[in-house]
Amino acid sequence: MIKHFRLATLTLAATWMLAALLAIAPAYATSLVVVVDAGHGGTAPAGTMAERTLSSPNNATSPGKKFKEKDLTLDLAGRTIRALNALPKQGAFNVKAVPTRTTDVNLNMAERAKITRDAGAVIFVSIHFNAANGKVLGSRGVIRAKTYSKSYGTDHAYAMALADCTNKVLRTYLPGGTARVQDDSELHGGKGSNLFHQFGLSKKTETMPACFLEVEFLDVPDFEALLVNKKDELFDKLAAALALELRAQAIATSGTKR
Ligand SMILES: [Zn+2]
Repeated sequence: MIKHFRLATLTLAATWMLAALLAIAPAYATSLVVVVDAGHGGTAPAGTMAERTLSSPNNATSPGKKFKEKDLTLDLAGRTIRALNALPKQGAFNVKAVPTRTTDVNLNMAERAKITRDAGAVIFVSIHFNAANGKVLGSRGVIRAKTYSKSYGTDHAYAMALADCTNKVLRTYLPGGTARVQDDSELHGGKGSNLFHQFGLSKKTETMPACFLEVEFLDVPDFEALLVNKKDELFDKLAAALALELRAQAIATSGTKR
């Protein structure tokens, strides 16, 4: 009887200790930072091609001139950051999003890379709405070409996950587009993106999963019409979906030896 009583007491004590440990666990939560970059901005080019820091102020404009890419990128990046930062901790992980810009300014690629480095980001996404041929739809992740990349496979899987995520939301409004990943080998005469070049200059960012996410092509008239009618609804849904995907991707990096 006494033995049973002691066992019960010990079990109770162990339960209390476990409960106490769980209660203090959040203090040891692992913080993970996601940088969400709003592509382009301002009115003038920032940086130079010679230094591989050039960032153009605006790339695409919608066919009826109602929307500029640089404004849409800032809008969606802001909503995504707010949505991600409003999510609760997940287990031992506290994932937070950090912007590169919050106003209509153009940061050169070295500055965008420095913000990412200084934030200790585990993943990076740059939001874009480029133009193609006026017809093609579908989210596209653009990653560093194999030639220059030290983490092509990881980047490819990461970019595909993000492109799938926004494409699914968009296809409920505009059917027909396919999510894809492409590399940046056609950019800058085959040298690739200036931003990825800047990431490659630091050990902190050279293998960090990173991509440009061309959420949708802004030169398609049907997409402009969708933005006119339902931009707030669409962008809130895109931001909510991206926030969840980015949180999952950030957490996934902590289990991957890089
Ligand atoms: Zn762009």
